[in-house]
Amino acid sequence: MTLPSTILGYPRIGANRELKRALESFWAAKTTREEFLDATRSLRLANYARLTELGLTEPAAIPDTHTYYDQVLDAAFLAGIIPARFADLDGLDAYFAAARGDASHPANEMTKWFDTNYHYIVPEIDSTTAVAYTDRQVVARYTEAAEAGYTVRPVVVGPVTLLALAKGTEREPDFDPLTRIDDVAVAYAALLAELQGAGAPWVQFDEPTLATDNLPASRARLTEIAARVYSQLASLESRPQIFLAVPYGDSSASFEALAATGVEAIGVDLDRGSLPEGARAEGVTLAAGVVDGRNIWRTDLREAADKLERARATGARVVASTTTSLQHVPHTLEGEVWDEPLNANLHAWLAFADEKVAEIVTLDRGLREGWDAIDADIAASTAAFEQRASADGVTVASVRERTAALRPEDRRRGDAVLRRSLQRARLDLPLLPTTTIGSFPQRSELRVARAKRRSGELDEAGYREVLKNEIRHVIELQEEIGLDVLVHGEAERNDMVQYFAELLEGFAVTHNGWVQSYGSRCTRPSILWGDVYRTRSLGGEWIEYAQSLTSKPVKGMLTGPVTIIAWSFPRRDIPLGEVADQLALALRDEVADLEAKGITVIQVDEPALRELLPLDEARHEDYLGWSVGAFRLATSGVREDTQIHTHLCYSEFNQIIGAIAALDADVTSVEAARSRMELLESVEGTFTNDIGPGVWDIHSPRVPDTAELTDLISAALRNVAADHLWVNPDCGLKTRAYAETEQSLRNLVDAAQSVRERL
Ligand code: GLN
Ligand code: ZN
Repeated sequence: MTLPSTILGYPRIGANRELKRALESFWAAKTTREEFLDATRSLRLANYARLTELGLTEPAAIPDTHTYYDQVLDAAFLAGIIPARFADLDGLDAYFAAARGDASHPANEMTKWFDTNYHYIVPEIDSTTAVAYTDRQVVARYTEAAEAGYTVRPVVVGPVTLLALAKGTEREPDFDPLTRIDDVAVAYAALLAELQGAGAPWVQFDEPTLATDNLPASRARLTEIAARVYSQLASLESRPQIFLAVPYGDSSASFEALAATGVEAIGVDLDRGSLPEGARAEGVTLAAGVVDGRNIWRTDLREAADKLERARATGARVVASTTTSLQHVPHTLEGEVWDEPLNANLHAWLAFADEKVAEIVTLDRGLREGWDAIDADIAASTAAFEQRASADGVTVASVRERTAALRPEDRRRGDAVLRRSLQRARLDLPLLPTTTIGSFPQRSELRVARAKRRSGELDEAGYREVLKNEIRHVIELQEEIGLDVLVHGEAERNDMVQYFAELLEGFAVTHNGWVQSYGSRCTRPSILWGDVYRTRSLGGEWIEYAQSLTSKPVKGMLTGPVTIIAWSFPRRDIPLGEVADQLALALRDEVADLEAKGITVIQVDEPALRELLPLDEARHEDYLGWSVGAFRLATSGVREDTQIHTHLCYSEFNQIIGAIAALDADVTSVEAARSRMELLESVEGTFTNDIGPGVWDIHSPRVPDTAELTDLISAALRNVAADHLWVNPDCGLKTRAYAETEQSLRNLVDAAQSVRERL
């Protein structure tokens, strides 16, 4: 039974976020375990029915990518890689404790999945972990589907990727997980035997780590391990056919080694990656990723057909596939309505998950019957692209003129040392100034008001009164606590990207375009479809209002160009660097307005700077060039004595520390509390401006006491001169409750005070 054209994975959250609801009511003990399991079973069967209806009718064409929380955590449990601290819990409880933690069990760490905004759970393993085939859910789900009449294709994170993404345990923090590969291979062999017993014709192993240079283990080492492990697995007698997929990037460096392992099918991403020149792959099925799994644009079928034909030149049997799982895009365009005149256009330009499945089915027909058979579809796709190219708003002359006229000095500020002394004189701050990252907890009054505003129960003026109240509350609290640089609290923002997307031209917002961020959390990314420009204020009036309430400086807050791109669906018809410059110019104008309103400190957040770092090392320089350039364009229009801040989070900055320094922000706050200031070792010598390593881990409800905060500040002082160090939390406070926020901030101010006295 050959591998049919397919998708690498389907959204797991449910077209109406059924998984979110099932999880949250189960966690809140509003439903029983049986009710929870039933709800997820219904969701799985509904997805299989939908995919069948869309045309994935061949056996093994439907992937089973369901998960209760995360696919990496699933694979870890499958192989028995379960930290010892969960030993007192049974299967599902241990699983959710590892994902989320509970009062007595700290969770595993969570981090970003490659260069996406999806977060996975980091497996923990050491020399004593009892690696063995443990969690049998993959087989149970296969059987469940078979009993309902579907021959699905189980999808599992592959053994190499599982270990390449793992870390050591608390007992053995420096343990190299990849040294356990042979044990993990044995566990996977047991899975294969059981799948074979259940009658599964195919299994898919995802090995995206073979497409990245951004991990501690080199790509060459990972390829070598993969070649060995997959040869072993392929030589097993009792197993389904193996489909080894390398999504998310370029796998050309490992392609030939993988094709020679004896697995029956290989999956490649032909959007971010390519096939090696002259590659041969006779005897295997090549699943050519020609439909982009991580963006929402319609596929250019002409181009896809060309790629498929070129793939055939390898001598492989070629089928059509997506570049990645479709977990990164919303379920369907059905029911989405945008404002006129955009609506008629936009619909024809887009493809969400279901529409992408239809594209795969069309391309499959072309592969089997010849491209003439899908002539009309190709013509329709070409027409949509042509129509888009000249549609209103896609190219805006005034925007293009402005970017074309940019000069190098538009991205440069004056001497940093001089700036610093001017800012000191103007702001009159103490040594070790204290500040926060921007957002404050949102009180229930505010959430209620937002809901009423949406339902029309509250008018704009009434809503603005509520926002003002919230801002006043936040300012009074900060003054009373004694912070030095205040914030307005971001009460007007539902989300730090969507808020700006809604105010800027060039974006569209979906109604039901939910994408899983992690577990039960979803985001609704905006669609950046046209040239971006600013026709109105981006919320500066709220900061101005906050500043009117206090004599201390209030920091203006904006989201940077890279982060806006990373957390939206950006257009792909022009280079991202150009999109970033358009955003930067809009922000630059807002920055100028803030200055004119009397704001003396302005922060432009770039938490996603590391996230978008290309997986391919060869592309780092280009990326860091345009991303740093866009930040500087947004922030270089200010007076020398206006202080520019930036904020970054989601760790692993060491790799891009040079680029962070090149942002040339006067003050950079970074996440550092969890790693106990590890980061600062790479800061010495690179960083000449001020830095605020987060001393309070805001991802946990725990209130750090003054002694602990004092210790962290002292630790930071080992690497940073006292007159360059700021004291602040790790990140924004919007996910925290007021009780812990107040106490933690009091302790933070006390700690800064006591270190100041010692100095
Ligand atoms: N200013 C934002 C906030 O405080 C920053 C959020 C972030 O870094 N993710 O919420
Ligand atoms: Zn942050």
